[in-house]
Amino acid sequence: MANIPIFIPHAGCKNDCAFCNQKSITGKIVPPTVLEARAIIEESLKTLEGDGHRIAFFGGSFTGIGNALMEEYLSLAEEYVDKKKIKGIRLSTRPDYITEEILDILGKYTVTNIELGAQSLDEEVLSLSKRGHSRADVEKAAELIVKRSITLGLQMMIGLPGDTYEKSLETAKSFVALGAKETRIYPTVVLKGTLLERMLRDGSYVPMEFEEAIDTAADCYSIFFENGVKVLRIGLQNTEELKENAIGGFYHEALGEKVYSRVIRRSAQREICGEIRYNKRFLSKVSGQKKENLPYYKNYTLTEDNSLHGVCINEKYVLTI
Ligand code: SF4
Repeated sequence: MANIPIFIPHAGCKNDCAFCNQKSITGKIVPPTVLEARAIIEESLKTLEGDGHRIAFFGGSFTGIGNALMEEYLSLAEEYVDKKKIKGIRLSTRPDYITEEILDILGKYTVTNIELGAQSLDEEVLSLSKRGHSRADVEKAAELIVKRSITLGLQMMIGLPGDTYEKSLETAKSFVALGAKETRIYPTVVLKGTLLERMLRDGSYVPMEFEEAIDTAADCYSIFFENGVKVLRIGLQNTEELKENAIGGFYHEALGEKVYSRVIRRSAQREICGEIRYNKRFLSKVSGQKKENLPYYKNYTLTEDNSLHGVCINEKYVLTI
């Protein structure tokens, strides 16, 4: 099961979040025409095996691009549902771009998953990050989506202005309570040309320590894992463009790997001493980069067990992907 991603950049977004550089690169990246979107889908279908694929409209504000264009994209995707080539449609949008009217339109198509860029549920963090929506907007949108039996995804960022370990954990717990079934965890990266870059330079934004951000991401991951919320991604996709534009914050080439290995370390610290069994594919995650985790396992026996699909600490699965 895979997503066929179609990126709809900034189109429809009237906001200018402190961390977002889409406005400064608008003009360089333009949304695909419907014809171009069709070509992307056809090309992807040639290489995909199995079934259950979804067409995914990413970019952050899909339901704000105007109903006519939105329905053109949705009609295109629905053709492939009708031909049984894909199972459904996934999209991402802002919480304040979800209304009953919008959901009535989406209800005409096989929209199975909606991801909201919530980023934080702390009012101060939302305000300092210029998100332009409140916690109540996220709660209302989440409720409307869940009521329509659409799978709810909530994305969070860690280490935004005003954020703390406690605030991030509270956001993660609230995501669970709001009925999220999927999430993405994005430690904040400061990009060139953003308000956050200016705030970093003038000292009004002081990011949390890198290690604290990793601990925070790992503990949020554990909350999601223990409550059956699927973590679809940790950290931005590592592209050349990201590498060129990242000037601060929590940029690391192997951020996901670092967070996963921290999840194992912190879970081991929380549990009573005993045994860690792991599939050998997970050895690097168990030991961490440069074997940094090993000193934390003094009270554990480490046992390779390739019958497992992940890592097991004291008979408790902490990681299966
Ligand atoms: S809502 Fe999304 S697309 Fe719009 S400015 Fe914020 S991050 Fe960028």
